[in-house]
Amino acid sequence: MEEGPEAVYRCWQWAERAKVKQQFIKPAGWMLSGSGMGRALRQGLQETPGIRTQEDIMIVDLLKSGDCVCGAVGFHVYSGEPVVFRAKTVVIATGGWQPFSVTSTNSDVTCGDGIAIAYRAGAQLADMEFQLFIPTALEPECSRGSILPYLLIAAGLPVDVLDGEGSLIPTPKALQKIAKGSELGKIIADACWSQRLAEGKQTENGGLYLDFSRINRKPHFLVNTVFWLVLNQMKKLYRYGYYHSDDLKLWKKLMEERGKLEFALCSEYSMGGIVIDETMATRVPGLYAAGEAGSGVFGACRVADATTEMLVQGSRAGSSAAQYAAGSEFLCGDSGQTEQILQKVGAPLREGDGIDPLKSLKKLRAAADVGFGPIRNEAGLSRTLAEIRRIRGQELPQLRTASRSPVYNYGRMCALGEENLLTCAEAGVRSALMRKESRGFHLRSDFPAVDNSRFAARILAERDGGEMKLSTRKPEAHRIPIPSGSELTVCDYIVNQKLI
Ligand SMILES: Cc1cc2nc3c(=O)[nH]c(=O)nc-3n(C[C@H](O)[C@H](O)[C@H](O)COP(=O)(O)OP(=O)(O)OC[C@H]3O[C@@H](n4cnc5c(N)ncnc54)[C@H](O)[C@@H]3O)c2cc1C
Repeated sequence: MEEGPEAVYRCWQWAERAKVKQQFIKPAGWMLSGSGMGRALRQGLQETPGIRTQEDIMIVDLLKSGDCVCGAVGFHVYSGEPVVFRAKTVVIATGGWQPFSVTSTNSDVTCGDGIAIAYRAGAQLADMEFQLFIPTALEPECSRGSILPYLLIAAGLPVDVLDGEGSLIPTPKALQKIAKGSELGKIIADACWSQRLAEGKQTENGGLYLDFSRINRKPHFLVNTVFWLVLNQMKKLYRYGYYHSDDLKLWKKLMEERGKLEFALCSEYSMGGIVIDETMATRVPGLYAAGEAGSGVFGACRVADATTEMLVQGSRAGSSAAQYAAGSEFLCGDSGQTEQILQKVGAPLREGDGIDPLKSLKKLRAAADVGFGPIRNEAGLSRTLAEIRRIRGQELPQLRTASRSPVYNYGRMCALGEENLLTCAEAGVRSALMRKESRGFHLRSDFPAVDNSRFAARILAERDGGEMKLSTRKPEAHRIPIPSGSELTVCDYIVNQKLI
């Protein structure tokens, strides 16, 4: 909190010098596009002396010398050539993880690589059951994965949400009141909508409809005014008429002609990740983590912007790692490790019949959709866990790519990513099964209340003799006492119609 303003201001200045369009909204709002943020950070890199960069390398595992981290091994995604780094320290900043079939404008292989890599190297994971969901376009095909449906709702356009049978999904008035101006809005909307999904009332593609009838019924000039106002606002950050690559004029045409468009709920952010302390250090000497890969400050529910967290943690992790490196020597990795990792990298390219990694990954994602979505219960989570274990046991060793060429082999990246996603998903689903209550974004229809007596605690996952072991850790309370007893939640209201 204290370092946020400075970190943001530094990035703001980089953005300015990189001529990125950005907006300051009083009292403390900052808007720029995702690509604008990328350009700002690259500007910062260019202005900082002594930083060498290497691009397009997929890191597969870390090298260790005894307990300490001493490098990393990966391969160049275009040439397929192996790459070995020797390093005194490693900072993992590989972002979050998301197991669902609809991926957002996130990278399309968000398998939680860094989280699983750190886990294999001996780090602990925490809060893996908490995923933040956001409405994401299923159509038109060219916009699949865009969060434009969320933005249209958030911009206050008069749109409704319908289930797959065409029935309106209302947000109860009591909940609307809580949602207004509060970060709870996303949980409330997700909970209302996903209750219908849990009842099996989804569209053919597993989503819901965004209904534009109320807009279309308004006099034409009013629709235009609202629409062009939104468009003009976006012009300050994006190419006129576009939100990223979404053609807003096409959207308007479809809104008028079709009246409704399909969307789904997918992950915007994973609250859980690698356990780090305030210096961003993991429990593995020499290993640091920052950003969404870390189990950060948000716990069960992200209540503020992620970007500030990324900027502060990235900066802190860099300083801490540099300090550690200054006081340590280069270490030699334990023998045979590099060969072992390179064998894993080559495994999907081996001759012989096997299972297509893309198809296998699709099955894993479908299993997560079914049991690990916004509203969960024992039966669904258990089914998802069984499928995770089946895929790990039966499919993972059999993954083979259609092409045996190492040159830009997307199947190989999926195969290596799937191992990581299985680790993250196992930690997430098992933690969700263990947490027999509802809290933040973890909503259980079979345990709809918050149970502070048993679960005001973090669930940790770590490797123990090749198996994943879960444990709980109560927070240390300094200023605010840990609540006790149980409380009603949004889930209680929606599932059992109990008033909050
Ligand atoms: C659609 C969407 C909208 C969002 N909107 C907002 C918003 O308005 N405000 C906000 O604050 N936050 C928002 N967020 C969240 C925020 O964007 C992320 O939390 C943040 O970008 C995470 O930053 P990061 O640096 O930790 O990871 P990322 O930005 O995800 O970067 C991780 C990098 O690591 C690379 N990587 C992954 N695996 C490997 C590997 N094995 N080897 C090598 N490289 C690897 C990836 O390719 C990527 O470049 C949004 C997220 C999404 C998906």
